[in-house]
Amino acid sequence: MVAYLEGFSLKTIVSNARVKVNMENEPTFTIHGARGTMAVSGRAFSRYGGETTCFSLATRQGILIVDAGTGIIALGDQLMRQSDLPPITIMFTHLHLDHVIGLPLFKPLYRKGASITLMADPHRKENWPGCLRTLVAPPFWPLDLWHFGAAIRFQPLPRQNRRMRTYGVEIAWHPLRHPQQCLAYRLGIQKHSVVIATDNELDADTANGGFTDFCRGASVLIADAQYTTAEYFTKHGWGHGTWAACARLAATAGVGRLILTHHDRRRQDAQIDRLVRQAQRIFPATHAARSGMRVY
Ligand SMILES: [Zn+2]
Ligand SMILES: [Zn+2]
Repeated sequence: MVAYLEGFSLKTIVSNARVKVNMENEPTFTIHGARGTMAVSGRAFSRYGGETTCFSLATRQGILIVDAGTGIIALGDQLMRQSDLPPITIMFTHLHLDHVIGLPLFKPLYRKGASITLMADPHRKENWPGCLRTLVAPPFWPLDLWHFGAAIRFQPLPRQNRRMRTYGVEIAWHPLRHPQQCLAYRLGIQKHSVVIATDNELDADTANGGFTDFCRGASVLIADAQYTTAEYFTKHGWGHGTWAACARLAATAGVGRLILTHHDRRRQDAQIDRLVRQAQRIFPATHAARSGMRVY
């Protein structure tokens, strides 16, 4: 095992470590950004981080990235320190700004010879490749995405069966309750199965529908806990959930661990600590996502 994994127990599936991208040995899953809506900075946010949504699963065959929030910027910098870039696939849950705004600063896009595939839901109503090309081009960004250097391919997810396999990872997806639609992904490799449900207004209806079955038995559930129960009272229909709904879903679906994510942009570290303690009364194996958190 390489040096940067020494000292970690692979049985401990949640660690605090900021780890390098490991392409050589065991697959590694890392959270690079856990903030919702807008990136934030400041001492009050320093432990959980201010970067917006981004996750990566590195295997021997390539690196699978979910979402390109500002968390993807540090991930790109890590990848650029490697002599050879692995094949890279970025899968989008949806196109809200907090999930795409890091894309223009993802340095591998600028490297000649890099191969990067961008994927999203084929049922999206808008022309999503066109939207991304508009975002990463003048006047919003000084350079056009096509002039970045990498070979970039836009590829919709398969229309049938809501599942595929890439880089040795079994991938399934499920629509969530969110304005303009968001997808949950379930990523399975070896003994690990992680469900990522970043933007989801989880209530009795959605929890009792097919989504509970989609999550069933996952080793880790990463779920949208943007609101407190009191906040949600005035935010029905805004597309986000509560820690309480996440904890109940985790218990019902029998997952191994729950990681709360998409933290509200005003939620300070100490407040997140309190939400986790409250959720642990319903589902003891609850944690909160933070930038640089290695899940396995
Ligand atoms: Zn979001
Ligand atoms: Zn959203």
